[in-house]
Amino acid sequence: MHALKEKRMAEHNVPHPKNVAGDFYVVDQCCTACGVPTHLAPETFSFVNGRHGDHCYVHRQPTRPEEVDRVLRVIRCQEIECIRYRGADPVILRRLTEAGAGDACDAPLPAGIHPVVRNHTSIEAQSLDARAWASPSVLERFRHWLMGHSPSYRTTPVMTSASGASFSFSWTENSFHEVTAKPVGDAPSRWLLQHSGNITVSEIIEEWLESECDLGAVQWYSQEEWERGSPGQLHPW
Ligand code: SF4
Repeated sequence: MHALKEKRMAEHNVPHPKNVAGDFYVVDQCCTACGVPTHLAPETFSFVNGRHGDHCYVHRQPTRPEEVDRVLRVIRCQEIECIRYRGADPVILRRLTEAGAGDACDAPLPAGIHPVVRNHTSIEAQSLDARAWASPSVLERFRHWLMGHSPSYRTTPVMTSASGASFSFSWTENSFHEVTAKPVGDAPSRWLLQHSGNITVSEIIEEWLESECDLGAVQWYSQEEWERGSPGQLHPW
């Protein structure tokens, strides 16, 4: 069965001739010139205006973890399945499967892994200033980042509640996603963020936290993983 799948992949997903050898590749004759790969991962992808049409291709395989992260993000975001993974790294196969992008893998997918939304995020203060923050201050940091982002997001004010704080944000007309923050246990400098919405909301929160020097020790959980006391993941998928 697996051999048959790999044979079909080889027949249907012919790599563009300019790809360098390696696990990630762009399928030939696939291009609508979306510009996503060269925008999100320029160290891996180039774009060529050729006699046989315009196309992106892998000019260098990712090596550092953050480069791999960016290529995986490209695969998750792509509208047509131009970018594919032909390697067998179980972590990459798991991550793409959890992100709902398992179809972009040539190898058989790991058994028992399914798409997942990790909408619980634990974070810790990394500075003296942040240790004095309460839950509303954490969310104000996020809200401030969103409002300074381009294109900017729409946000509601941060509201304080008995258990913590919350606000909502949107990047489309009226589709707001709520984010809450509350302290974890008795630790004054550790919080749990929870959000509504899908994996894109998780990625926006992750992008903010990567730029945030006062907060760190980020761990991601699905609701079930959090309730079970699982150790968490470094990324939402
Ligand atoms: S991802 Fe596909 S559509 Fe986008 S630039 Fe590359 S080949 Fe073209």
